[in-house]
Amino acid sequence: MIALPPAPTGADLVAAIRARSAETGIAVSRLVLQLSPYPNKWLTQTECAAVPKPHTIERVRALLAGEPVPPPPSNNFQASLARTADREALEAADRRAQALRCSTVKHPITLDRPKPQPIAIYDLDRRPRAVSRDPCFRCQVRGDLGCAHQLPFELEAQVA
Ligand SMILES: [Zn+2]
Repeated sequence: MIALPPAPTGADLVAAIRARSAETGIAVSRLVLQLSPYPNKWLTQTECAAVPKPHTIERVRALLAGEPVPPPPSNNFQASLARTADREALEAADRRAQALRCSTVKHPITLDRPKPQPIAIYDLDRRPRAVSRDPCFRCQVRGDLGCAHQLPFELEAQVA
């Protein structure tokens, strides 16, 4: 019977399995097959572990005792993703609250503000006023009608 130290490292686990292999005459890889479908990978990775997971230690303890090895915990990928998403949502809310506290802007512009009115095109009309009723020298439209090139001639405007 091989005993594990109180807080075994990964190297302790692998050494204990090698001792068990020597004791029973069962090949190391054959023993480790009860722990992982990839014994060499498992040995390499576990040997590097300074603090192996509790369930790994429990499974090795069962293996060394010759008991049935409990199945590994499922690495519930979606649940861990959901936990990450929840945590990040909380952190984002904290950051927003902190940004609001530190902000020097007293009246930030809200996103649901009404749209500004477009500037009417006639406000930007820079056409010159026609100086007389004579036709426009570009398009020959009468000056008192106005055209793309000049505003309609006005007598009052001319006087003023
Ligand atoms: Zn014209």
